[in-house]
Amino acid sequence: MEDNLADVFDHSFSWYLIWKVVVPAKVKFFIWRILRNALPCKHNLRVRHMYIDECCPVCGVGMETDFHILYCCSFARSCWLLSNLGWVSFSSLNTMLSYVLTFLSVSQREKVFILIWSLWTHHNDIVWNQIFQQPIYMVNRARVVLEEWQLARLHFRVTNSSTKPLAAAVWQPPSLGQYKYNIDISVQANGSYGLGMVV
Ligand SMILES: [Zn+2]
Repeated sequence: MEDNLADVFDHSFSWYLIWKVVVPAKVKFFIWRILRNALPCKHNLRVRHMYIDECCPVCGVGMETDFHILYCCSFARSCWLLSNLGWVSFSSLNTMLSYVLTFLSVSQREKVFILIWSLWTHHNDIVWNQIFQQPIYMVNRARVVLEEWQLARLHFRVTNSSTKPLAAAVWQPPSLGQYKYNIDISVQANGSYGLGMVV
């Protein structure tokens, strides 16, 4: 993967590409927030004048930017490598996502999105619940989340697209003491018509 893509990413175009990726809506929205630089990571909060420690709670070394949490952190890097999606140096998360949305296959985009979202939930688990996981657990969990969601989606589509065949019209005799008229009309190309009736 190359690192020479423009960081500037048209948001209307990116949103269109993001929305086409078949992952849960919350994951798409999360990716969109990344592109809008709207994640509440420590660095962004610091920029907004909240004076907090910016150290990454996962590795304890780097500055907690969204790019660090989701891609550059040693933990994130291990996850990317274990996922077989690979890891190559990019200058920003925006650049990385530009590459993903432009060059990767549909299934790879789905895996990238789910892994990014899983890395963020893992980060939150550490911050709020002090729950640390191993990279291999994270990667497997991301895969299972995607597979289960796809299966559920498929099941929903099959269930809702199954149409019951219309019941064939079956002639029923009239009730005792009543008459039934069976009528058939044919119209010819020259405008003539025929009428048949059976009582
Ligand atoms: Zn880190």
